[in-house]
Order: sequence, then structure tokens, then C-alpha cells
Amino acid sequence: MLYKTLNNGVKMPLLGYGVYKIPEGDACENAVKYAIEAGYRSIDTAALYENEKSVGKAIRTSGIPREEIFLTTKLGNPDQINGNIIEAFDASLTKLGLDYVDLYLVHWPCAPHHQTTWPLIERILKSGKARAIGVSNFQPHHLEDITKHSSTTPAINQIEMHPFFTQKPLLDYCRTHGIAPQSWSPLGGERPVQEQLFVAPTIANLATKYNKTPAQIILRWNMDLGVITIPKSANPARIKENIDLFDFALTPDEVAAIDTLNQNQRVGPDPDVHA
Ligand code: NAD
Repeated sequence: MLYKTLNNGVKMPLLGYGVYKIPEGDACENAVKYAIEAGYRSIDTAALYENEKSVGKAIRTSGIPREEIFLTTKLGNPDQINGNIIEAFDASLTKLGLDYVDLYLVHWPCAPHHQTTWPLIERILKSGKARAIGVSNFQPHHLEDITKHSSTTPAINQIEMHPFFTQKPLLDYCRTHGIAPQSWSPLGGERPVQEQLFVAPTIANLATKYNKTPAQIILRWNMDLGVITIPKSANPARIKENIDLFDFALTPDEVAAIDTLNQNQRVGPDPDVHA
């Protein structure tokens, strides 16, 4: 596994496993257990996904020491809007059945609430119950709103990113300010964008060259850019495929060739439109 050192010194695996839309219960518990067996050491959930109970149970019963697994969860939008930040965090910990998380993220800016939320997220960091704190779907102006009044820079900004939406200006902003970028929907999310992405000649040719799948080429592109990524699949063969990335690397020219596929095409909502 490759790791990224966050701005407070905490180490986070460059590749993780996302569980959006994997239903609470056996489906999620088994998927997370399988991912851990396959070698993943980072799991990304959220209050919104309503599967924290199963994620926590899978981690607790995995047989892997807790400190070897990096767990992320996120503050839900209704709790942010209602100001229930500390209560929501404690409720997540209770559902997970754990006494700390590795990373707690503000899931969405929900402007202007992000400004009053961040000091409470800092309080969670100070309590030791989250080893790192960060945000998700923040644009530079949202980041500036919170950093200008705070001594804690978010460790992570988790954003939509894939070869049709490379987010170069936001990546540059994050890197300049010591914020590690993390990509969601790295494989373009659901069809049809994903299908178009997988047959793009640049991706397909690299898949042939390295004897890898298009998904593996795209995930390796993320890692070669230094972007932390969290693909999702409930299918055991794909869970394994998506971590089989450590026996090859793209050249800088190949990374740049994938960058040129950008079409500024989102598959998810725009944080400036859906505040
Ligand atoms: P993704 O890009 O990971 O794609 C998931 C889809 O690709 C699924 O349909 C899956 O079956 C398919 N797939 C996975 N591996 C494949 C493979 N090797 N070959 C072919 N198809 C494959 O999209 P996602 O689930 O939207 O994003 C990943 C994770 O990011 C989520 O699980 C969640 O943890 C996180 N996320 C965060 C936000 C946010 O707002 N912070 C939003 C969306 C997702």
C-alpha cells in the first residue's frame, strides 16, 4: 500500500474503499470484510450512507488491529444545517461502535453554515476522537471562508474527480494550501459516463499496454497524481481488481495524456449550485 502524509502528520492510504449505496446489514458488512481481506486499509463511509453500523462491525470483527485501518466518516447536511455537529459526530461513533475515527469530513459546504461548523469540527479534533479533519465538495472560496478565521487547515478536500472532470484548478489550490485532494466517483460513478470513460482510446490503449483494465488505469492515474482515491464496488472480483494497482505505474507523459481527456463533465451536483 502507498500512503500520503496529511498536513498534521497522520498517514492515510492512497487507495481506499467507498461504501456509498451499499445497504446497511449483511451486504455492507460482507463487502467491507471482503475489502479488508483483499488488502484495503482505508474505508470511506458517511452518516448519509446509513451504513455506519455495518462498517463499524466489519472493522471490529476483521481481526486486523484497529490502528491499521483508516476510517473516514462525514457530517450529514441536515445535522450541519441544524447545528448538531458534536451530537452528530457522537452518534456516528456510537453507530460505528468505535471510540475514534481517523478522518471526519464536512460532507458538503451547506453555505453559509460551513463557517460556524468548522470551529466545532476543530473541537472534535482537539478531543482526540478524530485523528484528522477535513471537508468535501469545497470550492476555494468555501475553503477561504473557513481558513481565514481558523488555525486548522483541512487535511483533506474530498471532491468529484475522474478523467472527464480533472479539477486541475481545485487540485492546484488544494496542493498550494497543504490540503490533500481525494477523489470521489474516480471511475465516473454510474453509467453512461463510466462506459464512455472506459472506451476512451487513451485509457483503452494504456490498458492494453500494461495488461490492466480501464478501471485500473484510471485508479493508477489518481495515485500517480498523488490524489487519494476511494472506488466503490460490491462485487468481490472488482473489489480485488481495484486494489491490484501496485505492480505498475504510468509515466508522466501518460498521466498528462489522461489529463487531456478533461471535459469539465460532472456526474454529481455542483457545490456552487446546490449550496
Ligand atoms: P465510482 O467511480 O467508484 O464508481 C462506482 C461504480 O463503478 C459502481 O457502479 C461499481 O459497480 C462500478 N465499478 C467499480 N469498480 C469497477 C470495475 N473495476 N470495473 C467496472 N465497474 C466498476 O463512484 P462512487 O461510488 O460514486 O464513488 C466512490 C466513493 O466515493 C463512494 O462509495 C463514496 O465513498 C465516495 N463518494 C463521496 C461523495 C461525496 O460527496 N463526498 C459523493 C459520491 C461518492
